[in-house]
Amino acid sequence: MGILIVDDSPDDRLLLQTILSTAGYEQIFAADSAAQAFELIGVNNGTQAAPRVDLILMDIFMPGMSGIEACRQIKANDRFRDTPIIMVTVKTDPVELQLAFAAGAMDYVAKPINKIELLTRVRSVLRLVHEIDRRRAREQELLEVMRQLQEANQMLLRLSCLDGLTGITNRRQFDDFLDQEWRRATRESTPVSLIMFDIDQFKSYNDAKGHTAGDECLKHIATAISGAVNRPGDLVARYGGDEFVIVLPGTGLEGAAQVAEVLRQRVESLGITHADGTQVTISVGYASLIPTRHASPTDLIKAADQALYQAKQEGRNRARPAALLSLVQDTHDP
Ligand code: GH3
Ligand code: MG
Repeated sequence: MGILIVDDSPDDRLLLQTILSTAGYEQIFAADSAAQAFELIGVNNGTQAAPRVDLILMDIFMPGMSGIEACRQIKANDRFRDTPIIMVTVKTDPVELQLAFAAGAMDYVAKPINKIELLTRVRSVLRLVHEIDRRRAREQELLEVMRQLQEANQMLLRLSCLDGLTGITNRRQFDDFLDQEWRRATRESTPVSLIMFDIDQFKSYNDAKGHTAGDECLKHIATAISGAVNRPGDLVARYGGDEFVIVLPGTGLEGAAQVAEVLRQRVESLGITHADGTQVTISVGYASLIPTRHASPTDLIKAADQALYQAKQEGRNRARPAALLSLVQDTHDP
C-alpha cells in the first residue's frame, strides 16, 4: 500500500512517516508542497512512471497551493478519482472541513497528530479502498461472465435454428419464418411461393453407397441450393430426411417456376452419381398464393407437397406447379 504525505512542516512529515512506518506501512512518500506532490505522483503528467499511491494525507494549510485546492485538482484527474484523501489540519473549522469534503476529501485528522486516531482512520480508509478494488474486480469478472453467457446464448439460438447435418435452417425455424412471412404477405397482399424438393431414389443411393456417403450428398445439395437462392428475403431449409423447402416471399408462380427449374438443373449438374453411374437428381413441387384469411401456411405446404408428388409420379427429375386448388390462387410476380 503506497501512502503519500503532503505537508510543508518537516516535523509533521517526519511524525506521520514514523507513525506509519512503525505500524508496518512500507511504501511511504513525502512531499513538502502541492506542487511537489503533483510532480511525484504525476497529476499533470499521466505518462510518467509514477509510484502507486493508495492514500494521500494532505495538510490543509500550506504555502502556495492550499491542501483543499490540491485535493480538488487531484480529484479532477481521472487516475485519482478513487484515491482517498485524508485532510490533516490544525483547524477543524466546520466551514474549512466542508470545503475539503466538497473538494473530494474522504476524511480528516486533527493536528496535533494522535497516533491511535491517525492509524484508525488510515486503516479504515484503506480497508474501504481494498473493498472497492475487490468489488470492482468482481464486477469485471461478472461482466465477463455475462458477455460469455450472451455469446453462448447466441450460439445456442443459432444452433437451435440450424439443421445439425447440413448447417442450413431447420424445420422449426422454417415454420416460424413461413408464419412470419405469411402474416406480412397477408397485410401487404403480396404473394408467397414455396418450393419443395426431394432427392430421387435416395434410399437406393444410401443402400448402395452407405449412410455416410448419403450424408455427404445431403450436405453437398444443401450447399449448392443455398448458393442458388440469392434474394436476401428467401429462405432455404431442410424439411426432413431428403426433403428441402425454399420460401420465396414476394415471388409469384412464374418466379417460383424459374427458381424451381434452376434448382433442378443445379443438382443434376453437381456430378453426384448413383452406384450405376446415373446422376443424382431431384423432383420439385412449387406453389404460390396471395394469403387470405381462408388459407393458412399449411395449405401452401400441402399444395407444394402435392406438386412434388406429381413430379415423382411423372417420372422424377422435373419441376411441377401445384394444381389450382380452391385455396391456392395462381399468382404472378407483383
Ligand atoms: P423417391 O425418389 O420416391 O424420393 O425415392 P427415395 O428412395 O428417395 O425415397 P424417400 O424420399 O422416401 O427416401 C428418403 C430416404 O432418405 C430414406 C432414408 O434412407 C434417407 N435419409 C433420410 N434422412 C437421411 C439422412 O439424414 N442421412 C442419410 N444418409 N439418409 C437419409
Ligand atoms: Mg427421396
